[in-house]
Amino acid sequence: MHKTALITGITGQDGAYLAELLIKKNYKVIGALRRSARQDNWRLKRLKIEKKIIFEELELSEENEINRLFKKYKFKEVYNLAAQSFVATSFNSPLNTSNITGLGVLRILEAIRTYSPKSKFFQASSSEMFGQTYEKRQNEESKFNPQSPYAISKLYGHYITQNYRKSYNLYATSGIAFNHESPLRGEEFVTRKITKGLISIMNGELKVLELGNLDAKRDWGYAKEYALAMWQMLQQKKPDDFILSTGKTYTIKNFIDECVKYLKMETIWVGKNLKLRLIDKKTNRNLIKINKKYFRPAEVDYLRGNSKKANKSLKWRAKTNLKRLVKIMIDDEIKYFTKK
Ligand code: NAP
Ligand code: GDP
Repeated sequence: MHKTALITGITGQDGAYLAELLIKKNYKVIGALRRSARQDNWRLKRLKIEKKIIFEELELSEENEINRLFKKYKFKEVYNLAAQSFVATSFNSPLNTSNITGLGVLRILEAIRTYSPKSKFFQASSSEMFGQTYEKRQNEESKFNPQSPYAISKLYGHYITQNYRKSYNLYATSGIAFNHESPLRGEEFVTRKITKGLISIMNGELKVLELGNLDAKRDWGYAKEYALAMWQMLQQKKPDDFILSTGKTYTIKNFIDECVKYLKMETIWVGKNLKLRLIDKKTNRNLIKINKKYFRPAEVDYLRGNSKKANKSLKWRAKTNLKRLVKIMIDDEIKYFTKK
């Protein structure tokens, strides 16, 4: 018998990699997506799994739609990956972000409690919840100090998951994932914006790439590996929360330098602060410059995770380092650019 799993956010980066993994493991995958005129499922097509998924409509603000799914199927596992997931947007749409990224978690937990208390639940929590942190490496015990409506909504989702686990004895878990990237990452996130931007410049489609604060540090891993950890978290005897991270941290500037090195471009940084620019040494042309509009009202300066608990209990480890991640992302960018 196939196990049935529900993935919300099936059209997103993690939804695609998780669906690929579960299909390989012979699950029946129910992919929940919201109605959208421009839905093209490009990530699922890229992974060649679109036809293997049973799609159901689900808008996280609609309790009825969630309940309908739980009445229709018996889910062994439920992965809540849907969210308004972009920090910058959360400052412009704080109410929508709270409703989807925060309260959406409660709506699913309520459906599980009411219709399917044996379903195992994974909540996609975020390192953004640590926010302005003073700890060198953040673990499951570290203090939260969120800095955006997104992070505050995620913290709500994290706490309500813990609360339902405790109050109703549900198998409810929360994976506190640090940033994870891939060729399937949304183009608005900084890593993909950089890899796509540099390739577009090299191909003459973009004049100059504009970015915001390049000094922030992030712990970047490879998304495909994080999907594996999500599944592993639901295969344990007891539900628990885990930090998912690489344990290394780099600035945005470091990420750019790694890309430029891989592309064998000869470049130099000049200027400071808002005047900082990356210049092509041969042509003297600006490749990257700073635009104030990409700075956030409140920034998270530094994130670096400690995944010892996941290493030990799940035998999970992030294996892809920054250099390799850059190679994976740029190679793919080139491949799909030339296919356009
Ligand atoms: P993503 O690519 O932005 O995907 C988000 C998904 O949520 C998309 O499928 C989106 O659908 C869906 N969604 C948005 N609003 C919805 C709504 N109102 N109702 C139903 N579905 C909705 O995000 P990701 O990178 O795969 O991340 C997956 C999850 O992990 C998210 O919850 C994210 O916040 C969390 N997380 C991610 C990272 C990371 O570094 N990637 C780190 C920590 C936590 P559309 O395609 O229709 O927009
Ligand atoms: P986040 O960690 O979830 O906010 O992931 P992002 O990829 O959106 O941003 C990571 C870091 O890159 C943040 O500190 C941003 O302020 C910084 N950053 C600098 N320039 C940009 C930009 O142009 N776009 C985005 N998305 N982030 C930028």
